[in-house]
Amino acid sequence: YNGDDQKIDYVYKVVVIGDSAVGKTQVLSRFTRNDFCFDSKSTIGVEFQTRTLTVKSKVVKAQIWDTAGQERYRAVTSAYYRGALGALLVYDITKRESFDHVARWVEELRSHADNSIVIALIGNKVDLEDKRAVPTEDAVEFAENEGLYFFETSALTGDNVEAAFFKLLEEIYCVVS
Ligand code: GDP
Repeated sequence: YNGDDQKIDYVYKVVVIGDSAVGKTQVLSRFTRNDFCFDSKSTIGVEFQTRTLTVKSKVVKAQIWDTAGQERYRAVTSAYYRGALGALLVYDITKRESFDHVARWVEELRSHADNSIVIALIGNKVDLEDKRAVPTEDAVEFAENEGLYFFETSALTGDNVEAAFFKLLEEIYCVVS
């Protein structure tokens, strides 16, 4: 039961991964608190945030884990992935390098996480369209080849953030039930 005495049907662990500074923490706080903070890293030390919502008429508590900067040291451990049903793999549409590293992150997921993990590829910062360095088609093609869901989002404006999380949670529901 959560604070509102609402019965929780499922708890889904979701991990957020991707290069440093792509906006992982901001995408997460947009989803859980509908908030964006320019002076980021307000969540340091916090391992996960939660949001309870209805998915396919079930009450789901999404428990979403943030690397809290550990990705800088490639210190994301197996404990981080343990029990994760979904992953949000984030890159920055204005940083080609962050997209080039996505394949490496997928490999990391395939070797450390459960085989049935549902993965959503997220091209973040679409509000910076004039600085775009990753064409949408490149990401669509990659996502299709790898069997990932794909969304372009902006944590700043909130664009598509809900849609991405809802899709991920719905697909998790389909996989686990
Ligand atoms: P993380 O290291 O991947 O967790 O990245 P952060 O969430 O800390 O964000 C890195 C920087 O990008 C911060 O300065 C954020 O304010 C900025 N940022 C994050 N998301 C967006 C976005 O959607 N649009 C813009 N313009 N900036 C963003």
